[in-house]
Amino acid sequence: MVIGKKYILTKNFKDEPQEDDLTLVEFEVPPVTDGEILVEAEYLSVDPYMRPYSDTMSPDITMIGTQVAKILESKNPNWPVGKKIFANIGWTTHSVFNPELLDESYIISPYILPDFDDLPASLALGMLGMPGNTAYFGFEEICKPKAGETVVVSGAAGAVGSHVGQIAKILGLKVIGIVGSEAKCKWIVDELGFDHAINYKTEDVYVALSNVAPEGVDCYFDNVGGEISSSVIHQMNEFGRISVCGSISTYNTGSKWNSNNLLKATVIQKAMIFKQLKMEGFLVYRWIDRWNEGIEKNLTWIREGKLIYKETVTEGFENMFKAFTGMLKGSNIGKAIVRV
Ligand code: NDP
Repeated sequence: MVIGKKYILTKNFKDEPQEDDLTLVEFEVPPVTDGEILVEAEYLSVDPYMRPYSDTMSPDITMIGTQVAKILESKNPNWPVGKKIFANIGWTTHSVFNPELLDESYIISPYILPDFDDLPASLALGMLGMPGNTAYFGFEEICKPKAGETVVVSGAAGAVGSHVGQIAKILGLKVIGIVGSEAKCKWIVDELGFDHAINYKTEDVYVALSNVAPEGVDCYFDNVGGEISSSVIHQMNEFGRISVCGSISTYNTGSKWNSNNLLKATVIQKAMIFKQLKMEGFLVYRWIDRWNEGIEKNLTWIREGKLIYKETVTEGFENMFKAFTGMLKGSNIGKAIVRV
């Protein structure tokens, strides 16, 4: 008999997630019936969306999330034992399910990982998965970048931001990243080739940006929202484009659980009007029909040495919560993942 472990969301997060909002439980893994497979998690993803999405979840479900897992047992000929798969099946070490019958709420159906050769399978949770496609589609389709333009990326040392900045360099833009530490500033400039980095924790973002981009900003890829974004938006050029990808600076406040604590926004309308800016939010699943195009393009760029990937790996399923809250506070460089 196989004993698995999973995290149950016992309470919806209020403000900052607390350890006792989740409960780690053991369970007896059920037998595999016709059409089903038994998988064991190898890598699990911790992502910012888990924080705001928890507001919409009913307590007592398995905490949501994606993983790379290995098939241990199979009664489905299309899903052979030994293959590695991607699946959106939550914070659990083991699962038994029919991969062809997961309901629509799973958005990305489980799939057998393509052959990445020497690259780690965990990239299916990062550059060769959802965050990678967020960077690829969310930047090019919404910012419509042109060579020679100036782009600002916030959250620039994270999974999506570090990827967007590198695509922008590939496309010939001047790239400025906003991050929360000196180590991150150094990494994005020295290793990823960003032109400038701004540490929002130690510098006045408005002043620092006006020093490094006196020509103004044409594209802004926004991962964080709040004051940082206002400082950027007020320095944009006419007909600038803003891709609103994330708002991590606001995820811990203003949820339906503390509606009297809604954040006040700084005024951006004047810049929007007089600079005739275009601002558009998106969810990456808008491009679900082009999913493989993004993965293949990013894979090609990695192989050509044009995209550098980095992962912050937390060891041990028991450390999922630590990895999750650490990522929300900025302890990761590149993609935050957990190795079981
Ligand atoms: P990251 O790897 O970037 O990790 C989150 C980072 O956010 C931290 O490392 C931290 O870096 C930064 N951060 C935390 N708090 C703040 C704050 N108050 N102000 C500024 N930065 C902060 O995560 P992802 O790359 O996975 O996601 C980045 C953003 O993209 C998120 O907002 C996420 O919700 C969004 N997203 C949106 C998608 C979509 O479809 N629209 C899909 C995927 C992601 P630092 O040390 O620099 O503060």
